Amino acid sequence: MARFAGPVVPVYEDVPQDEVRHAILIGPRQWMVPETPARFMNHSCHPNCRVNDDLDVVTLRPVRAGEEFTISYDSAHSSEELPAWDVRWSFDCRCGAINCRGRIAAWYFEPGPSDDSEEERTDGAA
Ligand SMILES: [Zn+2]
Repeated sequence: MARFAGPVVPVYEDVPQDEVRHAILIGPRQWMVPETPARFMNHSCHPNCRVNDDLDVVTLRPVRAGEEFTISYDSAHSSEELPAWDVRWSFDCRCGAINCRGRIAAWYFEPGPSDDSEEERTDGAA
């Protein structure tokens, strides 16, 4: 399917200003400015695709005919070394998912099944 490919920029400040909203984090201090059509994929809080380690877009579940392919822009894994959120990435989400986060304005940590030493999180931030 789609694939992210383009120049890799090690310093976020060097990402061109008009590409700030398209740049994706591909590793610690590694940003890619995608030049492939994947750059136009929209966000959903309940996406049907994700970007794998090879920067291929892969589906997470069956996608109906006519359904838009979406990825999550704000998802992160707690083990990653994350840069500070840039307010220019923030937007009001209208994805319509039942779990829609509304305002996308921070990294979102997936409640993944990967870590079996997971602690109970009881923050009332939501
Ligand atoms: Zn949403």
